[in-house]
Amino acid sequence: MATKKRFKLKSDAEKKLKIIGIIIGIIIVLFIFYRSNINDLKKIGYSEKASKNILLKFKKKEIIHLGKNKTLNRAFESSDYIDKNFTSYSKIKYQNHKNIIKNINKLLKIGYSNEEISLILSRGNDKDVNEFTKRKKVRYLEEFFSVSYSKLRNYDRYISYMNNSREDEETSVLYVNLDMDKENYKDAKKIEDFSYTMLVNKHHKLEKDFVPKDLKTVSTDYAREKGIKANINAISQAKKMIDDAKKDDKNIIINSAYRSYEDQEDIVNTYRELYGDSYIEKYVLLPGYSEHQTGLGIDFGSTDSKIFIQSDEYKWMEENCYKYGFIHRFKSNYEEITGVKNESWHYRYVGKKAAKYIYENDITLEEYYIKFIEK
Ligand SMILES: [Zn+2]
Repeated sequence: MATKKRFKLKSDAEKKLKIIGIIIGIIIVLFIFYRSNINDLKKIGYSEKASKNILLKFKKKEIIHLGKNKTLNRAFESSDYIDKNFTSYSKIKYQNHKNIIKNINKLLKIGYSNEEISLILSRGNDKDVNEFTKRKKVRYLEEFFSVSYSKLRNYDRYISYMNNSREDEETSVLYVNLDMDKENYKDAKKIEDFSYTMLVNKHHKLEKDFVPKDLKTVSTDYAREKGIKANINAISQAKKMIDDAKKDDKNIIINSAYRSYEDQEDIVNTYRELYGDSYIEKYVLLPGYSEHQTGLGIDFGSTDSKIFIQSDEYKWMEENCYKYGFIHRFKSNYEEITGVKNESWHYRYVGKKAAKYIYENDITLEEYYIKFIEK
């Protein structure tokens, strides 16, 4: 009897073991299946976290069909994911913003299309977009923000500039980005760094102690007097230009170049005493706002003619200076943007690439700066 009972006990234990074994087997198979699904998703570019949530939400089939998509990846990583916005996530262009999915949800709720949301996201940072979601649906969205250098945070200024000036959308974006809706010299942006394409004007100022890089004295073979300083590269290109002009019988000379903040202050004071405030306003830049302080602004003259604009040297420079990295900075057709009257003698070293573009497209340094540098 005892043996029989023992035998029965043994077979019960075996049965239990078998069942446990089968269960473990199933778990292992399921786990392998689960991991291989995750690996399928990771292979096309989804993160571990996103892949797990994709499986959890039964979206693998759609995701495999759509392929790699950064916005979707982020959506599935985020706790802000909303299932009904799935198609929109797949169509909205990704930006690396912390709260991109949360902001997309808000913008969809306001009623923007996927294309409009892609534009909105591309024209500001996370904070700008978040601020923008607090507005009701805005007008002229596409008109303003399809301009590549437009900024979300300037929206109100664009609208008010357009209404006041009757300029078109693109011009309004450009002029507002240039702070032309602000008074001259008011709340000017401080310039941090030296570069050949730096912008110094009535809205971009240099600090009193700003001293540019690589100043060097110009030899009197090329300058009207001793002690004129300028940027080392600007000088070497100016020398080449002056030498080449000479081969064409044009006699160009450097009249003035680097001026410190204090030098500009002296000039302003002298002219103010002589001609009064309105003259200063019209013709002289206040200290900190002159690009002579960068060492990149150079005033050229002709040794053959007193009035530069009437000289052959001026005509030669108009056609050739860009080849040496210089631009005619203040032309009469640029006055509205530069805020400075035509100065036939004042040239600015910006480097050859920028100079060529500015010359060929006949634009101001301001426009070049907004379109290619500030971004
Ligand atoms: Zn000048």
